[in-house]
Amino acid sequence: MTAPELSPRIASLPKAELHLHLEGSTEPSTARTLMARHGVKVTEQEVRQRYAFRDFPGFLETFKWLTSFLCEPQDYALVATNLAEHLLEQHVVYAEVTLSVGVMLLRKQRPEANFDAVLRATEPFERRGLRLRWVFDAARQFGSEAAMAVVEAAKNCSSKEILAFGIGGDELQVSTAGFRKVYDRAAEIGLHRLIHAGEMGGPEKIREAIELLGVERIGHGIAAIKDPELMDLLAERKIPLEICPQSNLRTGALARQLARENVRMEDHPLPTFFRHGIPVVLSTDDPALFHTTLCDEYAGAAQMGLHENELDQICEMGFQYAFQPAHKAT
Ligand SMILES: [Zn+2]
Repeated sequence: MTAPELSPRIASLPKAELHLHLEGSTEPSTARTLMARHGVKVTEQEVRQRYAFRDFPGFLETFKWLTSFLCEPQDYALVATNLAEHLLEQHVVYAEVTLSVGVMLLRKQRPEANFDAVLRATEPFERRGLRLRWVFDAARQFGSEAAMAVVEAAKNCSSKEILAFGIGGDELQVSTAGFRKVYDRAAEIGLHRLIHAGEMGGPEKIREAIELLGVERIGHGIAAIKDPELMDLLAERKIPLEICPQSNLRTGALARQLARENVRMEDHPLPTFFRHGIPVVLSTDDPALFHTTLCDEYAGAAQMGLHENELDQICEMGFQYAFQPAHKAT
């Protein structure tokens, strides 16, 4: 997608990005290098074909395939460097990046070693004006015990740069209530609480996450468009939705929530949420897998009918709802 509607001024504004997965940021050229390291020869074109999924199960399969090549700390260092370069190009000065620690544990890796490699790879980017902080993430479908191990891994890493714990993956599996103890433990050790909810699931998943788990921001949350009372609650309590429009189009999440096929960018509920007073933070989710950039997402928001002053406010919210105060000056 090109960004003809986006003013150069908005494109060049310093930005904060708060919903972004390290693994899903792996561009085809980097994926190719990664695979070559592990003896698998693929062309960039073949990687692109794997990135051309059409629904949520297809997305999860691709994510699984890609992460199967993240075998050792230096692989994580490679994709982290790739991500940091990409963020600088987008004028991102602060990002809270999600690491799929649940996947590392499933593959019997040591999250401490992988995380250390990521920190070493990205630390030099601070001098270039990019500050990265981290979210340790569990996969919902792996269950609550596996999620608790992710929280404990965050504790063992004992790094001030890990700000939050979250859950992603298949929202339709495993009840929200089953994760209550996990979130209590995350809070106890000083982590902020996040979750992917109301992406493929209904508005009740968002309510449960707020009421049972005490989450502070909602990943996606687009199902809220079907529940006016929930929209009021999000606005009153100022609970931000982390909105990733291209992701919602590519996984079929938007079509599912709107219960129709062939949805377009203009059908996204972002303007409705924003004008209802719900805080929104605009993000790319898995930019390489969804063929997007943060500037593309702002262009998409303009295409939805948001005015330039509204885009300014959305950009500001990225800083306002970050878990650490982020300085815009670079
Ligand atoms: Zn996500």
